[in-house]
Amino acid sequence: MEQPKEKLKLGVYWAASCGGCDISMLEIGEKILTVDSLADIVLWPCIADFKYKDVKAYPDKYIDVMFFNGAIRNSEAEEIAHLLREKSKILIAYGSCSYEGGIPALANFYSKQEIFDRAYHESQSTVNPDRIEPKTKHTENGYELYLPEFWETVRKLSDIVDVDYFIPGCPPAENTTWSAIEAIVSGQLPPVGSIIGAGNKSVCDECPRERKETKIKRFKRPHEYVAPDPEQCLLEQGIICLGPATRSGCEARCINSGMPCRGCYGPCADVYDQGAKMISAIGSVLESEDGEEIQRVIDEIMDPAGLFYRFSMSHSYLLRRRLVGAKEEMK
Ligand code: SF4
Ligand code: SF4
Repeated sequence: MEQPKEKLKLGVYWAASCGGCDISMLEIGEKILTVDSLADIVLWPCIADFKYKDVKAYPDKYIDVMFFNGAIRNSEAEEIAHLLREKSKILIAYGSCSYEGGIPALANFYSKQEIFDRAYHESQSTVNPDRIEPKTKHTENGYELYLPEFWETVRKLSDIVDVDYFIPGCPPAENTTWSAIEAIVSGQLPPVGSIIGAGNKSVCDECPRERKETKIKRFKRPHEYVAPDPEQCLLEQGIICLGPATRSGCEARCINSGMPCRGCYGPCADVYDQGAKMISAIGSVLESEDGEEIQRVIDEIMDPAGLFYRFSMSHSYLLRRRLVGAKEEMK
């Protein structure tokens, strides 16, 4: 890879995420040494103790490329998203949570109070007789302490600030991360707003399994996935696979390991709502044309919303379960 005239200044940040995206950056293996020769790290909380005050002291646009992983779930993530937008020339939403809400956005099926009830009162390991819940402000010995405000709804990064590029995946596969880095270093980036490092087709287009247009009568639950035919499309064997609704780029890594695609690369290029696309794909494999029979088969799918929007609730027309009477739905 050609060396840029000056070393790039690179940042990695995590908001509401599991840490897998940070680890995935190391999955490029020994190529990390190439990254080291091309770039200096100016922010990466996962590996070194950078302080927010250090970042605030950077001049505007000081960071050349900022990889932001994690969804926006509270006021701290919102504040840092604005800060990093200000300090970065190129801001990248890295991974499913930042790009489309990811697993944290499954919380959008619940209200903030339901989540607090479960976490602070109902869970089997919680002892909280005084029913204490987090507050944004607390005074102790004359000192004021603040906590970020927990939002009602988990949002994607691009809901908060302008994002230059998106890299999908939970986490992004090694080939995706590396091809995005190559595009950045070579300066051969597509128009702002594009997905980088992934493909423009669907996972089905990368999948080696054969589709025979077999119609099915029922869907199997995961405990029934007993020795599926290794050659045939999983969906045609009654195993729900999100390949038809999911962007290519991971080289069908789950299917090649014998598991159905769960949709972590987000919607295909020409699709906004991954769940809606998947419902259409489901319709195309059903044998029956009888409405009642179709309803019976569909009713057997457990938690369809959680299944079809596992990674993309913040990037869907649904966004969240409707909150009747809530003062503020969006935060
Ligand atoms: S539905 Fe899944 S198993 Fe079938 S072709 Fe698509 S990716 Fe492969
Ligand atoms: S096969 Fe699907 S769930 Fe698995 S890595 Fe690829 S996009 Fe993600």
